[in-house]
Amino acid sequence: MSDWTPEIDRLQALDNTEWLKVETNYCGRLMAYVSRRVTDQQAREDILQETFLGSVRGIENFDRIFTFEQYLFGICRNRTIDYLRRRRSVGVGELADSSGSMPGMEHLAREEATPSGIVHVHDLAYQGNKLLINVLRDWVQETWQQGEFVRLMVIEALFLAGWRNRDTWARFELRDETAVAGIKFRALKRLRELAQRRDSSGEVIPALADVAGEETSHIDLDVSQAWELGRVSCPARTWLARKVSGNMLPGPQSFIDFHMEEIKCPKCCANYDDLLRVEESILEGVLERMQQSTVEYLRSQSIRDIKRSE
Ligand SMILES: [Zn+2]
Repeated sequence: MSDWTPEIDRLQALDNTEWLKVETNYCGRLMAYVSRRVTDQQAREDILQETFLGSVRGIENFDRIFTFEQYLFGICRNRTIDYLRRRRSVGVGELADSSGSMPGMEHLAREEATPSGIVHVHDLAYQGNKLLINVLRDWVQETWQQGEFVRLMVIEALFLAGWRNRDTWARFELRDETAVAGIKFRALKRLRELAQRRDSSGEVIPALADVAGEETSHIDLDVSQAWELGRVSCPARTWLARKVSGNMLPGPQSFIDFHMEEIKCPKCCANYDDLLRVEESILEGVLERMQQSTVEYLRSQSIRDIKRSE
């Protein structure tokens, strides 16, 4: 199970073949995402189609701090919410994901970029956030490589999910609350070092302020937002494939189970469903229809470009 990713340059050049490969590779996981939230099969297809067309329209402004998959999921989530709102079949509080209102998620779906959204890309806070995302990724990667999966889970629980020290201590059977505070303290210290390495101006450092002394204090909002927005702890799809085949060491297994079952990461759950192909019939004919409409759209775009240049 390879984790294919498209070449953004080719997508931006509206390359037919690359876009069709996008649909072949991502149709299943996006359908799995939508299927968890929308019951009507026609509506699911419509959402998927709007997602792919939206991704073509927005690709020019794609922000490479995100993965292409995140970009697609961002658009797909917005389209799903639009649909559910139109239907008014659910309350606003229970929209789409378990992950709450993802602040900043709109950046991923740049097709809806308003002028103010575009300005935002250039502002300092946004640049700082990008840096923070990379620093958090460095830390996750390092911790994963060290095989420190309990530490990774504890920090994900605190930073991403906003768990309290008390609950975190109980869940991971740590010695006491102080142990949680200690893990947090050391993680923040390491994050500051990593931040220093990436950016000596120290712009990100204030977001990584030492809050370990205050047992109840929450982590800085920027950090939790960057964790969420950057999906910094999501394992690669190959790891989810290993979970499906039951071929994993206990460490990564415990983290991935935690990430999916307790954090309920919508992107990883969708990928997992797709790999399991819980409902094989869902995809029948869908891909062909998606690809047809995309090809038509791309053709109409190139005709427009030709007309423009005339
Ligand atoms: Zn995930």
